[in-house]
Amino acid sequence: MRQSLVIANWKLNGDLALLDSMMNGLSSQTGYVADVVICPPAVYLAAMQQRSLATATDSFKLHVGAQNCSEHTQGAFTGELAPQMLREVGCEYVILGHSERRNLYAETDALIAQKVATAQQQQLKVVLCVGESLEQREQGQTLDVVTAQIAAVLAADVDASQLIIAYEPVWAIGTGKTATPEQAQEVHAAIRQFLNQHSGVGEHIALLYGGSVKADNAAVLFAQPDIDGGLIGGASLDVEQFRAICSAV
Ligand code: PEP
Repeated sequence: MRQSLVIANWKLNGDLALLDSMMNGLSSQTGYVADVVICPPAVYLAAMQQRSLATATDSFKLHVGAQNCSEHTQGAFTGELAPQMLREVGCEYVILGHSERRNLYAETDALIAQKVATAQQQQLKVVLCVGESLEQREQGQTLDVVTAQIAAVLAADVDASQLIIAYEPVWAIGTGKTATPEQAQEVHAAIRQFLNQHSGVGEHIALLYGGSVKADNAAVLFAQPDIDGGLIGGASLDVEQFRAICSAV
């Protein structure tokens, strides 16, 4: 059975007060089918790990994730965070290849592939984001774009079976425009087929949808056969919304 996951990407938002209310709000309800991961800004990771341990029960634990990491393990790289440093403060997951990193910080496929390899070597579970722009979708290039983004990572020294892939159409991120369940399912099915052909892991790895997921559209997206959960931006900053999304898997 594939892992179901809901991942909160707080981006450059939130504070310790939100961390407390989110963790209390999520752990006051039980019975989530999905594993729930919160990726706050890096300065809050250690605090989140402490709170995660404090609120964990036999059946529930909130997992800690980072929004980015270095492709290096140490050295003169001012401002960077190495994967093993993230591990040391309790991170299990790291988001890599987010469209904001690709577009605002000029991260290339080659750099992202290096980051994935280094993160996996340090036992972080990588959530690799892929997705097309509106222009690329309108030109019928969606499947070519997302498979090329994945192929670039598979060409590096990575363990494909340990990847989690988030399909996030760039035109749907933070815009309020969600892919229809059919559009999302079509791309997820194509990604699974591509992974099967190239590394035989398509049936086993978790594929998440991201892009303006909210409490009122989560269930129908997550009901698609190839969608195993979601990567949630804006709606993950609201305790009630995010709790409803976690419960929709
Ligand atoms: C994201 O940034 O990964 C994302 C999906 O954002 P939003 O849910 O706000 O569209």
